[in-house]
Amino acid sequence: MTGFQKEQGVPSVARYFRRAGSALPYLFRTLRLISLAAPNWTAAWIALLLVQGFLPVAIVYLTRPLVNGITAAAASRAGWTPILWPATLIGAALLLAELLRSATQWIRTVQSELVQDHITSLIHDKSVAADLAFYESPEFYDHLHRARAEAGYRPIALLETLGNLLTNGVTLIAMLIVLAGFGVWLPVALLASTLPVLAVVLRDAVRQHEFRIRATPLERRAWYHDWLLTSGDAAPEVRLFALGDYFKSAYQGLRKQLRRERFDLARHQGAAQLFAGVSALALTAAAMVLMVSRTLAGLMSLGDLALFYQAFQQGLSLARSLLENVGQLYQNSLFLGNIFEFLALEPQVVSPEEPAATPACLREGIRFQGVTFRYPGAGNIALRDFNLTIPAGRLLAIMGPNGAGKSTLVKLLCRFYDPDSGSINIDGVDLRSFSVEELRRRITVLFQQPVRYNSTVRDNIRFGDLAGVPSDDAVRAAAVNAGAGAFIERLPDGYENLLGHWFEKGAELSVGEWQRVALARAFLRQAPVIVLDEPTSAMDPWAETDWLRRLRSLAKGRTAVLITHRFTTAMLADEIHVMEEGRLVESGSHPELIARGGRYAEWWATQNIQ
Ligand code: ADP
Repeated sequence: MTGFQKEQGVPSVARYFRRAGSALPYLFRTLRLISLAAPNWTAAWIALLLVQGFLPVAIVYLTRPLVNGITAAAASRAGWTPILWPATLIGAALLLAELLRSATQWIRTVQSELVQDHITSLIHDKSVAADLAFYESPEFYDHLHRARAEAGYRPIALLETLGNLLTNGVTLIAMLIVLAGFGVWLPVALLASTLPVLAVVLRDAVRQHEFRIRATPLERRAWYHDWLLTSGDAAPEVRLFALGDYFKSAYQGLRKQLRRERFDLARHQGAAQLFAGVSALALTAAAMVLMVSRTLAGLMSLGDLALFYQAFQQGLSLARSLLENVGQLYQNSLFLGNIFEFLALEPQVVSPEEPAATPACLREGIRFQGVTFRYPGAGNIALRDFNLTIPAGRLLAIMGPNGAGKSTLVKLLCRFYDPDSGSINIDGVDLRSFSVEELRRRITVLFQQPVRYNSTVRDNIRFGDLAGVPSDDAVRAAAVNAGAGAFIERLPDGYENLLGHWFEKGAELSVGEWQRVALARAFLRQAPVIVLDEPTSAMDPWAETDWLRRLRSLAKGRTAVLITHRFTTAMLADEIHVMEEGRLVESGSHPELIARGGRYAEWWATQNIQ
């Protein structure tokens, strides 16, 4: 396993403070994001927190008249009268504190739901806009994994921490002012005693964050094994090849590794907390000895002593909570940095500032000119100096062995990637001159592995042209043209029947049936260019014959490209182009290619012998 080595060397405290500073911009961005997602709720929340911050001080202040009142009442036997007011006010303050706590809780829930949905929607926008190339890099998945994992609870945690920080901060400042009345050195000593704890807290936060970054690849791998063990897709093979124990032990091995580091971190945090607790205790003891001796000497009243004790004790525990809040805030900001890093990813395939108009109907055709392309991070070149002209209105077949680069042509045509060199033109205009969205609207594709949408049959087909708001008749016609009409009619709810197993009452189709639904989707879109990548690969020979008979009329008036392994399909085309190792090796009609005696003729002969 790589990427999970322990950090080398002992990091300095200065480094943690530096890193703390670098997380600050994320904090501000998060605050901006929160106030954007829920402006009014955020304002109400801040107001409530401020009031809540002052309440404990009011209670502590009222302790002095209460204790002094009780002392006086006990000495003069005056009954309840001297303590009636302070007691009532303390009661009212406590009640108000409870009320505000509930209200804040409620507001925070609303606010955090809104913030969470807002961030998720930003992540969704980014995921949809991201280049396809992003989805081929493990780092992208690491980012996405962390962003999605953090988006769920980090903003809420940040809100909670900020709330505590605000309330505790206000209370602490007020308490320090109370304490200053007993001696200016007291608040200074109290604050000074917390500095070592601050360093410890920041160190823990950085360690926690660094651990998370290192752990992401392992977590994803563990998640992958978990998915293999629990998904329906893998279930048949896991059973037949008895892979359950293997994946389980792989999962447990990864979890063990993750657990060990997490335990180490928890141990360090525990030790730091013990240190903080003991130092606070020592400071309280020293201050109390001093104050009790002053009370014994008659320099302070019992009420003063009670006020001091409360203010000091609370000040100390507040300072500790505040430090913890700072640590959490810092940690949450670091983690939210993951989300912002993800949101900062910029796609490379973009539309030009002033895009050319895309042709509604092709006049000349599509031209690949000297196109060379290598997938990002891949060793092999997928297309090398590739030249091909697809004349407008023609039906063209592209044949070749696996890995020849056939599907890559489609991906470049849709501008999922841009070529490393060379160009692709439609009617003489480079693809990069069009708006990406407009260009894609002019092309319809049956992909080699079409998506099986766990939605109704109607949705599965109309997803091919949502923007065109297709009528039910158009959906039906596309299904019939794709040879899917008959089995759809047999489903209990016909076109309204759910497909797939994800949801209740979903019907599962055979691979060939799914393929025909995808074909219907591709046909629904009235695009001038149609690309069918292995359209009949999952069809039985009868369905294929039937479908091929209709293909010509379906493709009429459009520029069509058929990518296929099958001679029966290829023979149907006006021209056949043969590809090998990213290059075009032969072109011609079926009889021409057979007569030439090249690659095509060789494959044809091999297949006919079989
Ligand atoms: P074909 O459709 O002819 O079977 P492809 O166009 O899918 O072949 O692939 C051409 C070459 O590009 C192959 O060597 C394949 O391994 C490589 N390739 C395909 N897709 C990717 C990808 N997403 N990332 C890296 N390499 C890829």
